[in-house]
Amino acid sequence: MIKAYIGLGANLGDARHTLQQAAHALGAAPGISGLRLSRFYRSAPVDATGPDYVNAVAEIDTDLAADALLSVLQGIENQHGRLRPYRNAPRTLDLDLLLYGELTVDTPRLTVPHPRMHERAFVLRPLEELRPALHLRQGSLTELLQACSDQALEPVPDQPET
Ligand code: AMP
Repeated sequence: MIKAYIGLGANLGDARHTLQQAAHALGAAPGISGLRLSRFYRSAPVDATGPDYVNAVAEIDTDLAADALLSVLQGIENQHGRLRPYRNAPRTLDLDLLLYGELTVDTPRLTVPHPRMHERAFVLRPLEELRPALHLRQGSLTELLQACSDQALEPVPDQPET
């Protein structure tokens, strides 16, 4: 079993509901078990347009290969009617494979660890909830969070039951 971390984000429609549904679908997918979900956070868009995002990170145990796991994530995105009218357009649901054990992947379809995760507070902060002592290649979560402390991020009040 590999421990993997998935970034979840949504900024259209009922974003909290979408994330909750996506987390349920992820936890119930064949080859995935032991889902742990961070709190939900609200953040202003980075490199994207539209309303605020709601973000979370999920930890899973999986015996799927990284590529097959990405296919599961894309299937869940599609189920939630993701529309991509133009690059970085607002989207109903975005699922990123952040970490897949200790593995490094660099193929046209998949880059792991996710190449921008170390500079995004909306990934680092929920990840810190799940794995406070985690070190990325670029540094500890504490150090990396300090470096992006200008990115506004707050826990969503009235967290839904997951
Ligand atoms: P995005 O619009 O940021 O969700 O990017 C989606 C595209 O990124 C898809 O074509 C994926 O094949 C590719 N991709 C590369 N690495 C990853 C990753 N670690 N997680 C999710 N998508 C990835």
